[in-house]
Amino acid sequence: MALLLTLNAGSSSLKFGVYRKADEPDLIIAGQVERLGPDARMVIDGEDDRPLGMTDHTRALDEILTTVWDHIGGEAITGVGHRIAHGGTDFLGPTVLTEAVLVKLRLLAPLAPLHQPHNLTCVDAAIATFPDAVQMGCFDTSFHRGHPWVNDTFALPRRFYREGVRRYGFHGLSYDYITGVLAERHPNLTKGRLVVAHLGNGASICAIKEGKSLASTMGFSALDGLPMGTRSGQLDPGVLLYLMDQRGMSAAELTTLLYRESGILGLSGLTSDMRTLEASDAPEAAQAIDYYVFRLQREIGAMAASLGGIDGLVFTGGIGENSRLIRARATEALGFMGIAIDEAANRENREEIGTGDTRVLVIPTDEERVIARALCATPQAVS
Ligand code: ADP
Repeated sequence: MALLLTLNAGSSSLKFGVYRKADEPDLIIAGQVERLGPDARMVIDGEDDRPLGMTDHTRALDEILTTVWDHIGGEAITGVGHRIAHGGTDFLGPTVLTEAVLVKLRLLAPLAPLHQPHNLTCVDAAIATFPDAVQMGCFDTSFHRGHPWVNDTFALPRRFYREGVRRYGFHGLSYDYITGVLAERHPNLTKGRLVVAHLGNGASICAIKEGKSLASTMGFSALDGLPMGTRSGQLDPGVLLYLMDQRGMSAAELTTLLYRESGILGLSGLTSDMRTLEASDAPEAAQAIDYYVFRLQREIGAMAASLGGIDGLVFTGGIGENSRLIRARATEALGFMGIAIDEAANRENREEIGTGDTRVLVIPTDEERVIARALCATPQAVS
């Protein structure tokens, strides 16, 4: 029977899953190398397995492939599915990764420097390790490709839009998964106006109408919108002009500043990790949380306005699924939108936490499952 492997390289983690082909893919083992850097750890099936010491994406992938080999005991992997951050304007759905496709995807790497190069490293390594398997790409941008033009463009001269300077939106695999769960468990909501907040190390909010993305807080790059672990979120472009003109900062220095040194790490001066921030007594930690919450409220409001109202608000991603503090604080000023939450339900991370007219849900995301489903639907990957 065919076994399928999924690989999801984020900025600070590398997640994997092994599935057996079925109508709904059957998970056999899942895990991740988390906290890439000096304190990386291997986590398997949710249990902390072992410390790895200094680990980058390449070593993490080696560790994962060894773990997978040990586990599958001689069974063949016939398909490998990769989360790919950027699919540009060409890739509207899961695509078999031929060399011609990979050439196009490498050209998109500068648009997602924290993710795309790692995604493509995983593809190269998977081709070397499983040369007979079908390699499939699933793109974070595909879910957003039907945006109306006003949510797709910037007010720049039109030639830039034609050149590809437009709002792509990301976290599409997560939004795809969440809309699938809603269709199954809350069918009344799927026809409605939804605001889904994916709050992980990266974070974005998506406005979804009748199951389709209408707007996203992330735009041309994965920097826009909400503040994140180490990324700035929305920034007045005048700040960049100032930093270049007056401080002589280069594009490379700005990339490091905006992708790796900003967000809640920059504001707190302490950590990019929300759990650590919540546990800190430092006034800077409290201020970083204040800013995070303020921007979250603002963007939830903006997404609801772009939908002409809101029927449901969904929290997902590591922070959205687990931080009762952020959910409570983000919703406390949103009573005017029919949003109110039940304290006990919120404390217990229950699925349904709203008490007002607008439903408020907490739904754990599963990007790997979306990839595994795409593999199952590809005959070459499962034969
Ligand atoms: P990634 O985007 O790398 O997949 P995750 O979705 O796993 O990241 O989210 C990681 C974030 O979730 C971190 O900031 C982490 O501190 C936060 N988080 C996880 N559990 C909790 C918790 N119980 N309380 C607050 N934040 C949490």
